[in-house]
Amino acid sequence: MGRRRSKRKPPPKKKLTGILDTLFDCPFCNHEKSCDVKIDRQNNSAMIQCTVCMEDYKCSVNYLSEPVDVYSEWIDACEEANKEDD
Ligand SMILES: [Zn+2]
Repeated sequence: MGRRRSKRKPPPKKKLTGILDTLFDCPFCNHEKSCDVKIDRQNNSAMIQCTVCMEDYKCSVNYLSEPVDVYSEWIDACEEANKEDD
């Protein structure tokens, strides 16, 4: 035991370097940095869309949410959807 590594470890919290990373790898077509996050602070909503396969996902956000949070929610939602197939 002890050697098992979870695939679901959260992305490391990076220090802000001035450039906010809003491009993520697509869980559907596996393209790198093809998913663009848009956060609508006024409506507390966010959307992420892959510019390659056009898969998208919308979720609600709060004032603390960052693009990476939107992305990880999407990944979680994908995993949930996969579970239901079992
Ligand atoms: Zn894609």
